[in-house]
Amino acid sequence: MNIIVCAKVIPASSVTIEIDPASKRMVRKGVQHELDPAAACGLEEALRLVEKHGGTVTVLTMGIADATIGIRNALAMGANSAIHLLDDALAGSDALGTAKALAAAIRKEAFDLVICASESSDSYSGIVPGQIAQLLGIPPLTFAKEIAVDGKQIVVKRQSESGYDVIEAELPALVAVTSGINEPRYPQLKGIMAAKKKEIKQYTAASLGLGPDQVGASGAREKVLSIGRPPPRQGGKAVTDEGEGGKQIADFLAELRII
Ligand SMILES: Cc1cc2nc3c(=O)[nH]c(=O)nc-3n(C[C@H](O)[C@H](O)[C@H](O)COP(=O)(O)OP(=O)(O)OC[C@H]3O[C@@H](n4cnc5c(N)ncnc54)[C@H](O)[C@@H]3O)c2cc1C
Repeated sequence: MNIIVCAKVIPASSVTIEIDPASKRMVRKGVQHELDPAAACGLEEALRLVEKHGGTVTVLTMGIADATIGIRNALAMGANSAIHLLDDALAGSDALGTAKALAAAIRKEAFDLVICASESSDSYSGIVPGQIAQLLGIPPLTFAKEIAVDGKQIVVKRQSESGYDVIEAELPALVAVTSGINEPRYPQLKGIMAAKKKEIKQYTAASLGLGPDQVGASGAREKVLSIGRPPPRQGGKAVTDEGEGGKQIADFLAELRII
């Protein structure tokens, strides 16, 4: 089974995010990057499936040159190879442009399964997995909290508000996993050394057959109109326990209709 994992490489959690006032986009250049923890869950799931059923895992990313650090991390975790879409013509792509670029790269590979995160941890659009599936003409199985493969059949437990639904499809398919699906492994020294020799293919927008009307800032149909900070948090309510603190908390929660 050949699995492609779409993995965004994002500013590290230690970085204070800056927004460029002109483009209203996140400043990505010059900051430390890491593999998106949500994507690491998708990669972990792919590695477990291949350990069980055989096959290969290819990690696919799109991003500035600094994204290499996240790609190497994914290769050190155990991915067999990587694809990096690297081209200033791709900068500023909206969700659909991103999906077009990722789908074009996926089409170049022989694949049975595409795994995504339900949303990336830096921009939280949550629509790219569905768009990729649509562009590839394969079924999207979303919010997966458990995946099982049996021959050409894939079955996922899809997280719902009240529990889970069981969804089945035939491969090839796309699965978007929830972040709680697993605990991603840490790369071991052997994996880190092996990662240095693994292949990273690079594509530009043109080599994927994509023009400025489809990807990049010029191809984006989504425009960020304004950005703002969330309102400052209001002071909390302190409860002093003089024997009936529990009751006061219960009354407060009842007032908010939480209980
Ligand atoms: C590899 C990848 C995996 C993703 N996986 C998921 C997923 O699993 N689930 C999901 O819901 N969404 C996913 N997304 C989509 C993501 O959440 C955003 O919706 C989408 O990338 C829109 O970009 P942005 O809001 O980050 O905008 P921006 O900050 O404007 O960035 C646009 C994109 O351009 C890229 N970019 C900038 N400069 C370059 C350059 N020189 N070369 C190449 N690229 C460049 C950035 O890395 C970014 O991906 C993924 C995106 C990528 C790139």
